[in-house]
Amino acid sequence: MAVKGKSITILGAGIGGLTAAIALARRGARVTVLEQAPEITEVGAGIQITPNGSAVFGALDLEKRARRLAMSLEAVELRDYRGGAPILRLDMGDARHGNPHPYLLFHRADLIEMLASSAKRHGVDIQLGKTVSGVAVGFDQASLPIEDGTQRTGKILIGADGLRSLTRQAIEKAGPPAFTGQVAWRALVPSRHVPVYDFPSVATIHMGRGRHVVTYPLRGGALINVVAVEERKSWVAEGWHHLDDPENLRRAFSDFSPYIKRLLSVCEDVHLWGLFEHPVAQRWFQSSTVILGDAAHPTLPFLAQGANMAIEDAWVLAEEMDHSDDLGAAYAAYENRRKNRVRRIVAAAAGNTRIYHLSSSPVRELAHRAMNLAGRIAPEQVLGRYDWLYGHDVTAGRSTR
Ligand SMILES: Cc1cc2nc3c(=O)[nH]c(=O)nc-3n(C[C@H](O)[C@H](O)[C@H](O)COP(=O)(O)OP(=O)(O)OC[C@H]3O[C@@H](n4cnc5c(N)ncnc54)[C@H](O)[C@@H]3O)c2cc1C
Repeated sequence: MAVKGKSITILGAGIGGLTAAIALARRGARVTVLEQAPEITEVGAGIQITPNGSAVFGALDLEKRARRLAMSLEAVELRDYRGGAPILRLDMGDARHGNPHPYLLFHRADLIEMLASSAKRHGVDIQLGKTVSGVAVGFDQASLPIEDGTQRTGKILIGADGLRSLTRQAIEKAGPPAFTGQVAWRALVPSRHVPVYDFPSVATIHMGRGRHVVTYPLRGGALINVVAVEERKSWVAEGWHHLDDPENLRRAFSDFSPYIKRLLSVCEDVHLWGLFEHPVAQRWFQSSTVILGDAAHPTLPFLAQGANMAIEDAWVLAEEMDHSDDLGAAYAAYENRRKNRVRRIVAAAAGNTRIYHLSSSPVRELAHRAMNLAGRIAPEQVLGRYDWLYGHDVTAGRSTR
């Protein structure tokens, strides 16, 4: 047991950092997590944990609890933006894609709470209100100055510090992100305000010219999660917390179906952010220090895989660290197992908008007809296109590449 009794510092108590903390603590490591937030909370929004991510929850004995907290997705429906007519329905019940683990729709706060309480049960020390102001990676240890005037040094540091990772900056100089020409709004709507809501446990994607709207239910259907994406030239900052006037959202989708318009008409707290493409990190580790999740590979949200990749990373990293007494070899094996897969996912997520946003009406009509036909005559083949993604189970053993 290579990690048993070892002291490990994790920077960031997000989904990736907490999953890594649980996976390592279960193998006997002494884990400290440093988090800048004064309390463990998450923004009010939904998150999809797909079977490849929930496989890790299964291996961490969290699947039962996850199933209780989240809704299991029954189907994804692609719909036309105008009347909302269904174009393609993909049934996503359990045991699809050769992976028996569920496809779950979580409220983010519930997911983070589940992970944080599991980490604490396993003896993880989560230190809140610890804003790290820099990461210095030395030959055999990393130093983290903290804004409260203290400093932490560690022989093993895992940077799970998200999109603007200081740990990644300490390992390599990343190029600037590129604006995709897309912005996204997010909102949560209580479903009692939307009497036309009739899609239990179904995620819908309404596709229009240069725009799409994703909706899915949360917390037993009490809430509806809405993400609306629009192509535009003007630049909006990246980040989750920029409030916007709901009228802007309503105006942008005023020609969408009555269901979408009704949903947007009752959105009150609306956030807007710009979507940027970031390169996957070239280097994932240096001496004592390694990165995971968004710190290593931020992705666009169009395949719902950012958190799932972070969860997969966490498992693989813990497994490789436990397998080898040579930290460098363990980090290299982790990077090697993960890099091709995350590159493929990041590229596939970027490609999905092209399908959702077809601008030319005739091309869109044709593409929608082709999707509709494929869904009716060969639904298994359409679903099978995602086997590589959802069917992957990193917990199946170290030979999983
Ligand atoms: C609209 C939207 C929808 C999405 N939907 C999905 C989805 O359905 N499924 C999915 O898989 N993914 C989804 N994602 C992506 C997903 O949210 C991220 O990929 C995921 O949260 C990354 O997890 P992480 O742990 O790597 O980073 P983060 O969640 O960003 O966590 C990083 C943590 O580090 C802390 N931190 C950072 N810097 C410091 C510092 N200097 N000092 C101390 N603490 C620090 C932060 O406070 C934070 O808690 C979505 C993203 C967006 C924007």
